[in-house]
Amino acid sequence: MFSLQEAGGAAVDRHERTSLDPDDWQALRNQGHRMLDDMFDHLQALATKPVWQPAPSSVRAEFDMPLPVEGSDLADVHAIFRDNILPYGSGNIHPGFMGWVQGGSTVTGMLAEMLAGGLNANLGGRDHMPIEVERQIIRWTREIFSFPETAGGIFLTGASQANFVAVQIARCRKLGRDVRATGLSDETRLVAYASSEVHGCIPRAFEMAGIGSNQLRRVAVNEFGQIDVDALERAILRDRQEGLVPFLVIGSAGTVNTGAVDDLAGLRHIAHSYDLHFHIDGALGALGVLSPGLAHLFAGIDSCDSLAFDFHKWGQVPYDAGFLLVRDSEWQRQTFASDAAYLSRAATGLAGGDWWPCDYGPDLSRGFRALKTWFTLKTYGVKALGEAMSANCRLARRLAERIEQESALKLLAPVALNIVCFAYVGMDGSIPASINAHIVERLHAEGRVAPSLTHLNGQPAIRAAIVNHRTREADIDQLVLSVLTIGSRQDLPQC
Ligand SMILES: *Cc1c(COP(=O)(O)O)cnc(C)c1O
Repeated sequence: MFSLQEAGGAAVDRHERTSLDPDDWQALRNQGHRMLDDMFDHLQALATKPVWQPAPSSVRAEFDMPLPVEGSDLADVHAIFRDNILPYGSGNIHPGFMGWVQGGSTVTGMLAEMLAGGLNANLGGRDHMPIEVERQIIRWTREIFSFPETAGGIFLTGASQANFVAVQIARCRKLGRDVRATGLSDETRLVAYASSEVHGCIPRAFEMAGIGSNQLRRVAVNEFGQIDVDALERAILRDRQEGLVPFLVIGSAGTVNTGAVDDLAGLRHIAHSYDLHFHIDGALGALGVLSPGLAHLFAGIDSCDSLAFDFHKWGQVPYDAGFLLVRDSEWQRQTFASDAAYLSRAATGLAGGDWWPCDYGPDLSRGFRALKTWFTLKTYGVKALGEAMSANCRLARRLAERIEQESALKLLAPVALNIVCFAYVGMDGSIPASINAHIVERLHAEGRVAPSLTHLNGQPAIRAAIVNHRTREADIDQLVLSVLTIGSRQDLPQC
């Protein structure tokens, strides 16, 4: 199909034809349309398929092949995708997927990804419209979170990177931009604060920043899983007395385990009193401000110095689309800008443009994450996205109610947002770790609904994070029914 023969059949000198474009564009079109239709078929019938199924070894073997020296026909390669990858995804697009916290994406996002691939824009800098699309998203996120005109932002892979970048910015704010050259001296002993429920990427950010995760104080939480603000203040005072340098407090807008939202206004007050950079990890929850019914939970989010969140979770944008919003874009520039000769700017022309993202974050070559985000926001509008989030939270409450009606189930944490943690309770009233782990594994194998397993206060917990706009009441009811069925089968008296 993509032979090196021209239509007339005359042989073409291989050395003259090194372009990878097809000779037969019509054949390419037909094949491309088939690939697109195939994917639409898959998405349309999603609910009838298993949320997850293990790949047989013959399928895995397809990806243990020698390096292809000669090429293959695109149609043949696509057939391998269709038979060996498509049916064996992790299932996060499926309505029954409730594991971890993962977005469901949309057809619009998929199509935008295709267009971005065709354009192959590099968003490190220069003067071209893709950069303006990213700036549009920055302005929209300012509006979403009521940030000032001075605020800047940047797309990153995910909240893990966004949190890491925020730590770098906070460090630079505290010590000045010279720290970029000098590094940390032994005398400056920076300390930061977050709750004990903070996501694992935050301590890792301190490790990567060379500050060390021991310098991150993990403050206790109250019964709602929120940081204990009084305990936080005591910790800061203690550290100051010992000559340490508190520089950063990190709030969670949706903790990973239970979806708890810290008292953000309270944290703003503390940050202000002790001259700390106030960062929020809003990876899973922050976009909840788009739902009028949820916005009150995030009171104070507009007052933080930086905010990490993921369009690829509740924003339903395909992976990956993390974002960092920074109250003053100058802090961002101070932390990252440099003047390499090969990146010199011109007043006009392609090397012009007054905003080069490479000055505002760690990456030089950057993909066009902004396009799929722009398409998603334009196509659905923030109202519909907010409504999908409210619907997720309604389903979470329904699940919590169903759990409380069943004597064999126990709700393990308050449900503030879209995450429900619960357990199967044994006949003796205990929470058997092995049975709960077995239930989750069994559910995955059955392929109808897929929660994940976590641990809360040392107890195993079945965790349903409802993020997907496709999830319905029937999926919730199925989860309850399946957990009860599998649990009771396991929970027989031992002889
Ligand atoms: C998912 C998540 C992260 C990490 O974000 P990535 O986009 O996966 O890098 C950080 N914090 C919380 C609360 C999360 O839910």
